[in-house]
Amino acid sequence: MLKTPAYAAASPTTPLAPFAVERREPGPHDVLIDILYCGVCHSDIHQVRDEWGGSIFPMVPGHEIVGRVAQVGGHVEKWQVGDIVGVGCFIDSCRECEACRDGEEQFCEKGMNATYNSYERDGKTPTYGGYSTRITVDEGYVLRIPAGMPLERVAPLLCAGITTYSPLSRFGVKAGDEVAVVGLGGLGHMGVKIAKAMGARVTVLSHSLTKREDALRLGADDFIATSDERVFKENAKRFDFILDTISAQHDYNAFLGMLRRDGTMVLVGLPEPTLLSAAPLIMQRRRLAGSLIGGIRETQEMLDFCAEHGVASDVEVIPIQRINEAYERMLKSDVRYRFVIDMASLG
Ligand code: NAP
Ligand code: ZN
Ligand code: ZN
Repeated sequence: MLKTPAYAAASPTTPLAPFAVERREPGPHDVLIDILYCGVCHSDIHQVRDEWGGSIFPMVPGHEIVGRVAQVGGHVEKWQVGDIVGVGCFIDSCRECEACRDGEEQFCEKGMNATYNSYERDGKTPTYGGYSTRITVDEGYVLRIPAGMPLERVAPLLCAGITTYSPLSRFGVKAGDEVAVVGLGGLGHMGVKIAKAMGARVTVLSHSLTKREDALRLGADDFIATSDERVFKENAKRFDFILDTISAQHDYNAFLGMLRRDGTMVLVGLPEPTLLSAAPLIMQRRRLAGSLIGGIRETQEMLDFCAEHGVASDVEVIPIQRINEAYERMLKSDVRYRFVIDMASLG
C-alpha cells in the first residue's frame, strides 16, 4: 500500500484537517496518478456536512482531479507514465448493466463507485477523493486532458464542466436559443461559458447584486438580479432553456414562469426538497428535468469541446490549508468562480 497525505473531515461538524490514506499499488489495469490540482465543488460541502444523509467518515472529498500518470499496471495500454489525465466523480461501475453499456456509468444500475464518500466494487473499501497527493484508478475511468490546456483551470471541468455540458448538449441547446443560467457559482459560470460556445444567447439570473460585471465578462449577454421580485413578471415566457445550479433551497415555480411555451428547465443543483406546483408546467406545456454529471465518453467529449472552444474555468488557486475558509466563502456565494487546490501545498 502507498501511504498518501490527504485532508479529511472526521465528522459532519469538524473542519477538514491533515490525514493519511492508503492507496493500492497499481494492479494490471490501474494507473497511479500524482494529483496536481483538485477543484472544490459544492457537493464536497453537502457531503462533508452530511446534508444528503449516509455520509462515510473519515471523508477525503474531491472529484475534480487533474494529475500526471506516475505508474501504470502491466496490462494498461491507453496510458503512459507522464500523461496528463483527469478523474471525475466516479472511479468504477459494474460495466455490465444497460447504463454502463450505454456509456452512462453515472446511472449504473448496481451503483457507481463515487470518487469519495463511497466504496470500491468490493463494497467495503472506502473511496477517498482528490484532496490528496495521489490516487490509484482503473484505466477505463481516467480522462485525457487535451494538450495545452491550463491545468488548474481544467480541473473544474471534471465535475462543473460535465454537469453543465451534458444537459445543454442533450436538451439540444443551439445557436440563437435564449438560455438562462440560474446561480453564478462553479457550475453556473461553466454553464455560461459552454452555452455561449454552443452559440446561445445567455442571461445570468443571480441573487447576488455584485456579479453583473463578472457575468458579462464571462460571456453572458444579460444579467438579472432575482432579489427584485418584479423581474419574474417582466421576464415571463422569455427563455427556451433554463439551467438551475442553485445550491440552496428555493422556489422552482417562480423560475418556471420564465420559460416560453415548450421550454425546458433542468435542475442540477441539489438542495433540500421544496414544493412544486403543476400550474406553471401545465400552462405553457413546460418541461422540468434533472441531470447528473455525465458518463466517461461524454466527459471526454466535453473536454475536447472545451479545448476546441478555448473554454476553461475561472479559478482562485488555494493551498489546501485554506480549504475550510474556502467552504465558508462558498456558502456566502463568494466564489470567483471555482476554488482549486494546488496539491503541491500538501506535498
Ligand atoms: P457554488 O459554486 O457554491 O454556487 C452555487 C450558487 O448558487 C451560488 O454562487 C449562488 O449564485 C447560488 N445560491 C447560493 N445560495 C443561494 C440562495 N440562498 N438563493 C439563491 N441562490 C443561491 O456551487 P456549485 O459547486 O456550482 O454547485 C451547485 C449545486 O449543484 C450544488 O447543490 C451541488 O451539489 C450541485 N451539483 C450537482 C451536480 C449534478 O450532477 N447534478 C454536480 C455537481 C454539483 P448567485 O450568487 O449568482 O445567486
Ligand atoms: Zn461536483
Ligand atoms: Zn453498471
